[in-house]
Amino acid sequence: MVQSIWEELLKIIEQEVGSHVVHTWLKAVSLKSWDGTAKIALLQVPNQFVQSWVQSHYQVLLETHLSRLFNVSCVKLKFVTSIEEDHKLVLSSDKMIVPAIVTSNMESLSPPSLSIDPTQGKRRCQINRMYLFDTFVVGPSNQLAYAAAQAVTQKPGKIYNPLFIYGGSGLGKTHLLHAIGNEVKLRNKKLEVLYQTTDRFVSEFIGAIRFDKVHQFKVRYRDVDLLLIDDVQFISNKEQTQEAFFHIFNMLYEAQKQIVFSSDTDPGGINGLAERLRSRFEWGLVTDIGLPTLETKTAILQKKVALGNYHLDEEVIAYIASRPVFNIRELEGSLIRVMAYASLANQSVSVEMAKRSLARTRTTGSQNVDFRDILRGVHKHSGISMAGLRSAKRTKDVVLARHIAMYLMKKLTNRSLEQIGAFFGGKDHTTVLHAISKIEHNKKNDKDIEILLSTIEDELLR
Ligand code: ADP
Ligand code: MG
Repeated sequence: MVQSIWEELLKIIEQEVGSHVVHTWLKAVSLKSWDGTAKIALLQVPNQFVQSWVQSHYQVLLETHLSRLFNVSCVKLKFVTSIEEDHKLVLSSDKMIVPAIVTSNMESLSPPSLSIDPTQGKRRCQINRMYLFDTFVVGPSNQLAYAAAQAVTQKPGKIYNPLFIYGGSGLGKTHLLHAIGNEVKLRNKKLEVLYQTTDRFVSEFIGAIRFDKVHQFKVRYRDVDLLLIDDVQFISNKEQTQEAFFHIFNMLYEAQKQIVFSSDTDPGGINGLAERLRSRFEWGLVTDIGLPTLETKTAILQKKVALGNYHLDEEVIAYIASRPVFNIRELEGSLIRVMAYASLANQSVSVEMAKRSLARTRTTGSQNVDFRDILRGVHKHSGISMAGLRSAKRTKDVVLARHIAMYLMKKLTNRSLEQIGAFFGGKDHTTVLHAISKIEHNKKNDKDIEILLSTIEDELLR
């Protein structure tokens, strides 16, 4: 049973934050046991490095989902490393040796439970304490969103209401939402802060319908002072949920309570969004987060290195920052991979080693497929002419098809982003990068796109 819960959890996490997290980190972790009375999940990790990484990055995520899967309020995590288990000793996170069972001081590390679910009287654990304004690096790509987020914490509900932050996946939207939550709570403990992913909102609403509790569902939001709704694009095409949300929005807005949204596109780009909801999303301030510049990437790496207390030369940081990545999550992924490689090899990191440890990533472009064949494949399945795909036309389906072509070109050829951009009439490489990360994101959330991509790919590689 524990095993199947863990597998279920990995599936959810894969959907939520991407398969790389599961493959790099969580596949190495296992759920050893579950203590239903103390609500403690014991996780086995291969070493301290993995433990501290999982703790600092995925603890809230794991706790939140395990709470749901075990159907209890606040699950606590404890860690045991494989080696420690043999010695019947457990290293706590502050490096003190303590007997087994009393594992690391997780409680003090646990995020604060910031709000209460009045329908169930359960405490909820959802704001991630690691995501602060202080740990957010500001650059040209995110400074407006950052400034707006800060402004909101100074006068919640009074300026920019709602605040709508959009941008591609892994660019810091969730981070900013939590930072707002943390800051507001810091300024005034009494304020009720609720962070909710849209997925969760939808599934709880569906549950409420099923159990005839729609009224209680709505009432639950009445006492919230700050509502943070993450990934609101997932509300697309869900009419009834939108309707419920519309009422909650109005209720909070009229009471001058602050609402903040994140989304992967601007309100106009959310398919199947009721007009009245779209216009409300645009009432306050709509601001975007873009791809980070080289300087921002470097600064982010420096910050992560300092926060994690790692030792990494500037030139290695410069090397990691210089590699093309689709977003900050991937940038973090590169850093982790390098650190993990060094820790397993028990060596300090050189540029050479960083190169080696990152060499296996992005090697999919080994096949030799022609750009035109890809274009033909996309044309065949989208119905958009090859000239249309290469034109500057910006209607929705042309743009999507063009993005798919760019994605496949990167995946199936060895050509650079610049070369792909040039093929599409001299588009900038960041445009291509943006297109590709969009498709990577869509692929995760849209079965049709996933199927379409693999069909075209199969045909091309046959
Ligand atoms: P999104 O919600 O847009 O998909 P996240 O907020 O989850 O992205 O960010 C992905 C990762 O990148 C997180 O670990 C986050 O802390 C980190 N990150 C994103 N932007 C920044 C930034 N400006 N400074 C520091 N870390 C960042
Ligand atoms: Mg997010």
